[in-house]
Amino acid sequence: MKISALTLLVSALLLMILLPVVETAAAPTWSLVIHGGAGTILRENLDTSTEAAYRAKMTEAMDAGAAILAAGGSSLDAVEATIQVMEDSPLFNAGKGAVFTAAGTNEMDASIMDGRDGNAGAVAGVRTIRNPINAARAVMDNSPHVMMAREGAEKFAASQGLIMEDPGYFRTERRWRGYLKAKEKRDADPDRKHGTVGCVAVDQEGNIAAGTSTGGMTLKMWGRIGDSPVIGAGTYANNKTCGVSATGHGEYFIRNVVAYDISALMEYAGLSLQKAAEKVVMEKLVAQKATGGVVALDAEGNIAMVFNTPGMYRGYRKSTGETEVAIFGQ
Ligand code: ASP
Repeated sequence: MKISALTLLVSALLLMILLPVVETAAAPTWSLVIHGGAGTILRENLDTSTEAAYRAKMTEAMDAGAAILAAGGSSLDAVEATIQVMEDSPLFNAGKGAVFTAAGTNEMDASIMDGRDGNAGAVAGVRTIRNPINAARAVMDNSPHVMMAREGAEKFAASQGLIMEDPGYFRTERRWRGYLKAKEKRDADPDRKHGTVGCVAVDQEGNIAAGTSTGGMTLKMWGRIGDSPVIGAGTYANNKTCGVSATGHGEYFIRNVVAYDISALMEYAGLSLQKAAEKVVMEKLVAQKATGGVVALDAEGNIAMVFNTPGMYRGYRKSTGETEVAIFGQ
């Protein structure tokens, strides 16, 4: 069979078109991003062993979520498992190690959202649930509601078989000292080391989930609820746009509907994930002197970690092997 010059030319052209496509790195099949709070986190104030402890715990948290995603599990399960590791660690202001209210108590908030259908669950002002993120998930999965507060949420969590603790379980000496110091200075949050935890993930099916858990802000008034359990403020997920988990001065995050605003900028104004997150955190919030940051990802697995504070505990992991753990700003 004779190969004509035309066939050769067409084959060469096809190769030229296809080769660059083949060479381009494959898109990640799953991605996960976390934060452990934003604030005045400066290199000179963090000793080497404490820094190593934060890095190790963030890595462990991401390992838990990544194992689920790599095995084909759901982003909701990955977000819940990742946050649970950080709630159990006294390093972060969530679960054990939550900050103290003005009344000297620990009151925690958490939420989770499913980007497939907008289903969501949240708990607020809870004092006896070991892992508030599990309770948020239970509200979403097993109740007709989105948000439950205080004793009602605790009673529901207990009925779901979740681990309950005495309020004293959440107390750590480090946070108690922070509370006493803040009280002396009459400053609600002198160092603005917020310390909330959050996670956003996209799984192999392309479903996005986001979750956030916190003890709130030091010296908050008894009964105060922040942005973390408020869907659209501290947490948001939509498969069409992105998933977001926020940390910062909650009152401003509620007023600016931060997490939803990032999603809306993508949906209605066509902004990229990074541009949308920067617009909200670096322009809108900065103009109001509101401190904090967000971690976010879109369905393609693109990651954004944007904060207007000196530092933010943060990290991400992708199925491509790309990974990072960071604390300080540039
Ligand atoms: N956003 C949380 C709150 O206001 C605090 C934080 O992120 O550190 O409750």
